[in-house]
This record gives sequence, C-alpha cells and structure tokens, in this order.
Amino acid sequence: MSYFRPTIAAMKGYIPGEQPKPGTSIIKLNTNENPYPPSPQALEALRALDGEWLRRYPDPFAREFCEAVSDALGVPADWVIVGNGSDDMLNVVVRACGEGSDRTIVYPTPTYVLYGTLSAMQPAEVIEIPYPSDFALPIDALVAAKGAVTFIASPNSPSGHVVLLDELRKLAKQLTGVLVIDEAYVDFSEYSALSLVFEFQNVIVLRTLSKGYSLAGLRMGFGIANPTLLEGLFKVKDSYNIDAIATLVGTAAMRDQAYKNACAEKVKTSRSRLTLDLINLGFAIAESHGNFVLATSTAKRAEDLYLELKNRGILVRYFNQSGLDDKLRITVGTDEQNQRLVETLRDLF
Ligand code: PMP
Repeated sequence: MSYFRPTIAAMKGYIPGEQPKPGTSIIKLNTNENPYPPSPQALEALRALDGEWLRRYPDPFAREFCEAVSDALGVPADWVIVGNGSDDMLNVVVRACGEGSDRTIVYPTPTYVLYGTLSAMQPAEVIEIPYPSDFALPIDALVAAKGAVTFIASPNSPSGHVVLLDELRKLAKQLTGVLVIDEAYVDFSEYSALSLVFEFQNVIVLRTLSKGYSLAGLRMGFGIANPTLLEGLFKVKDSYNIDAIATLVGTAAMRDQAYKNACAEKVKTSRSRLTLDLINLGFAIAESHGNFVLATSTAKRAEDLYLELKNRGILVRYFNQSGLDDKLRITVGTDEQNQRLVETLRDLF
C-alpha cells in the first residue's frame, strides 16, 4: 500500500526553477525575481528586529501590514488577507472553494502551472481553456465551464500579456463562482483590476511582495476582497502563516512605495532594451507587461540554448508544453546581466 492518498501518489509535483545559493557568480534569470535589493527601509526593519518579536507568536492577521496595504492601495485594512507568498493564497482559495467534479477549477492556458498542481492535490477537477493565439480572453468558454474558482493571471506568466479591466468585468459579471485575479506582476504593468473588488462580491485580487518589492525570500503575498469572501478564506488559512519577521519587514517595504516604483521603472526600461536586443538576435518576443520576456527562437532549439546558457552560468526558464512549445522565459535582470545574456547568446548562434 502506498503511504499516500491515491490522488497524491498519482499526481506530478510542482517543480520550481533552480535556486542556486546567493553569492555565486551565476546570473539568475529563471524565476522572475527583481534584480534590485529590497527597500533600505525593509532592511533597516530587519536589522532592528528584537528578540521579543521572535519569542511570541505573530499576529495571525498581520494587521500592521494590512494597515500599510490600506494606506498604499486605498483599500480598507479589513479587506486584506495575508499569505506566505501569494502561492499560499492560491492554496487557501483552492482548499476553501474547490472539490471534486462539482466544484471545478477553471483557467485559461498557458498560465501559472501551480493552479493545476494545487487543484490536483485537493483534488478538484480542472477545466483548462486554451487562449487563442492573440491571447484574447475566452470569456464565453470560461463562463460555460462554471468554475467554483476561475483563475486569471494578469499580467500572465509566461506569456506576459495583460487582460484588460473591461474584459475582467465582463467575466466577473457572468461567473457564479469566485474569480481570482492574480496580479503577481502588476508592479511592472500599467494595468490593474483592483477596482473590481468593490464592484463584485466574488472577486479577489492577489498581489505579492516577491516581484515588485524584491522580497521573494521573505514569502509574503496578500489578497484583497470584501470581508464576506475573506471570511471563508480565513477559516482555511493557517493561523500563523506569516511569521513575525515577514510582518515587520513586509510592512516597511509596503510603506516605501517610492522605492518599489523606482525599481519597477528601471526594470521596465531594461525590459524594452532587452526585448530589442533579443529581436535583433532573431528571437520572436511577445510584448510583456511583467519583469520577464517570453522568447521564441527561430534559429536554434530553445532547449539547446537553455542548456548551453546554463553551462555558461546563466539560468533562464525553459518551457515545453501545450501552447508553449520550446520557448525561453527570461527574467529581466540589471542592464549588465542582460548584456551578458545577449552577448552569450550571440556567441551561441
Ligand atoms: N502568481 C504568478 C502568476 C506567479 O508567476 C508567481 C511566482 N512564481 C506567483 C503567483 C507566486 O508568487 P509568490 O508565492 O512568490 O508570491
């Protein structure tokens, strides 16, 4: 007999990108981290941390952090739920709302593969709806799938496209289940659908400190929705999912919007430059609203490029799945890192 539930024994686990130790000379452009350090105020909060914060259990609601979100984004503090990264929030939503074939999980593909992994674990049946080649949102098919939960990532990964507010509004209006708008990459985009949480009871917008705020190692993400929707999610959330260190450091980072915005502007400028350089090398590049670009190689197999880059100390993410055959997702690094990548690729052709 297997030690595990049949569902778990049968499922494929999520495989995150390679995570070499910090401090090595590897150029890491594979998991969409921000190339700039976190806010100096966040690092100061970390240094000032005293033992009393660690002796006690943390605040299960991370209220200080919710107040900072409220001030930064203009949402009421009690409309915020905080997670151990936004992955934790995705998990909470799936566990609270999805189950079996009656309460299906629906999302357009290609998108963040964790939506499928979490659903498989539950287990909840998944209905994947392929995006058309122009990435127009397949609203009718999504509505017809009748999900207990529908996930839309905007900006989406790895395509980098955004779904406009009007499209999301049309979708929210017609769905009877919960609509999760995953805005992990919103800080690098001109578009947000946050206002929909005030129009629809069934909408939750997820954000993270991992990308725009350069705090992927801290593990902090959050959801914004009306308190009625949050009430069900709070039942599922682990009480102490956000530790005391994350609460303190994350709060300081959230209060330093100017720093986050300045870093995001630099990333956006570098994204344009990197896009042009890759196009000049012969790649097809989709317009991206995230801190990464999706590259299709016309000259050489992307898988070979991925492996050869890795041999030369540059990590990018290789994708080969339905709707995404043989592509590279490249995180926007500093200009110096991007230049090294472009020069190395030039050598490889
Ligand atoms: N959503 C999307 C679309 C992502 O790409 C990621 C990062 N891999 C996440 C959510 C989760 O980010 P985190 O758990 O670090 O907040």
